[in-house]
Amino acid sequence: MTLTPEEIVELQTKIQTIADELAFDGVGFARLDLSEHQAHLNRWLAKGYHGGMSYMARHGTKRSHPNQLVDNTISVISVRLNYWPEAERTPSVALDDPEQAYISRYALGRDYHKLLRKRLKQLAMRISDLIGPYQYRVFTDSAPVLEKALAANAGLGWIGKHSNLIHPKTGSYFFLGEIFTDLPFVPSDEVISNHCGQCSACLDACPTGAIVAPYQVDARRCISYLTIEHFGPIPEPLRAMMGNRIYGCDDCQIVCPWNRFTNQTETREFYPRDALAQARLVALFHWSEDTFLSQTEGAAIRRIGHDRWLRNIAIALGNGSGSPEVIKALRRQQAHASSMVRDAVNWALGRLLMQPRVVK
Ligand code: SF4
Repeated sequence: MTLTPEEIVELQTKIQTIADELAFDGVGFARLDLSEHQAHLNRWLAKGYHGGMSYMARHGTKRSHPNQLVDNTISVISVRLNYWPEAERTPSVALDDPEQAYISRYALGRDYHKLLRKRLKQLAMRISDLIGPYQYRVFTDSAPVLEKALAANAGLGWIGKHSNLIHPKTGSYFFLGEIFTDLPFVPSDEVISNHCGQCSACLDACPTGAIVAPYQVDARRCISYLTIEHFGPIPEPLRAMMGNRIYGCDDCQIVCPWNRFTNQTETREFYPRDALAQARLVALFHWSEDTFLSQTEGAAIRRIGHDRWLRNIAIALGNGSGSPEVIKALRRQQAHASSMVRDAVNWALGRLLMQPRVVK
């Protein structure tokens, strides 16, 4: 497949149109020089900020060299897909009620991995409808890919002090995906400059102080990492700071001024499931493993499994008011087969029964 430079430019314009038709919120063509981001990653790893995510340290320089991950890659198409699930921006309703469970907004609906991959494949196939066979592979959070760096290089936003990508018109509530290809696209020339300025709202708002410095997140303190990625007991000093956040955390994004005008996603699959939106902690704690599996079928939450689900909820219950119903529910799990769950349950009971507390 050989295309003239003019045909390539024309194809890129058509790809923008197709991406619109497929309801992506943004598409760009990434510059592949990721050396600065690899250096940032190396410093982050050297400080041990990746915690138990040892896979982040594997793969050598593959992350910053797309052609080492997929042979013959010379271009990357980067896309953005908004997931904000609520018509009203009301995360504080759940965050301010210690009896309610707070689940990161991206996880309230359908798991994005399959959906986004399918949509990326549709985009890739629409390209082959135009030009015939070519080499491509699609990724979304599924391989050693510096997604945010590629998206920034493609003009889809800048990496904020909280380490998420931000677009000045839509904020940061979106997923990213990529198409690696052997087509010689011209990189987007309008890279969005950093607009964080003097703001430090995300650093101040992080419940556990995980944003240890601008652009440096210590995952070992990050509630998203602790509730989703981390196996085993959650370090005790951090438990009280987690509040009612049982799966992920959005605080750094909630306070970000660029998210003020975020619109609800057009992807209905990301709308909240009834069982998860505004759910009471104690009700979720009663879910058996079978109920957990059926209620979270097709949702990202399922990935953590029932034990970590119970661990997270037990800690959140320990941060609540400790009603008789909660104490009873916790006691029922004191003999749970998992030592990790028992540890969280006993911590919660110890906290609720030993220390008279006032819960806001
Ligand atoms: S809260 Fe402020 S400092 Fe943090 S990412 Fe948003 S604009 Fe940047």
